[in-house]
Amino acid sequence: SNTKNDEVRLAEEASKKYGSPAPTIFSRVIDKTIPADIIYEDDKCLAFRDISPQAPVHFLVIPRDPIPKISEVKDDDAELLGHLLVVAKNVAKKEALHEGYRMVINNGKHGAQSVYHLHIHVLGGRQLNWPPG
Ligand code: AMP
Repeated sequence: SNTKNDEVRLAEEASKKYGSPAPTIFSRVIDKTIPADIIYEDDKCLAFRDISPQAPVHFLVIPRDPIPKISEVKDDDAELLGHLLVVAKNVAKKEALHEGYRMVINNGKHGAQSVYHLHIHVLGGRQLNWPPG
């Protein structure tokens, strides 16, 4: 588990990379000052159930680093982004989404992003349609 110093160092590194993004509700999920149904966590990321599920299974995978959006990711975040996808896949398996699922990253206004802390949506447990709205 992270010590306070680790948290401070991570925040400092993140602010060098991304400026000082406004804290979002997901910072409070990460520091556990608001309740969330966390189904996976490690030193780099968390997965938790979406509070307003759009499918029988709907969870989010977020980095601990407060990266605001996918369009602001840096080239050296490739390993972290790969990790988020692998975690999303592993949790989807744990959630028994054997018939398939969808991963979505909303970005900015046209992408209908509402929380400016990068997150991968994973939706499954019913037939999803294409194209999206
Ligand atoms: P997006 O539109 O891609 O930014 O999606 C943000 C998602 O976060 C939405 O699906 C919300 O329902 C979800 N959400 C917002 N607040 C919380 C929260 N406190 N716990 C879990 N999910 C949340």
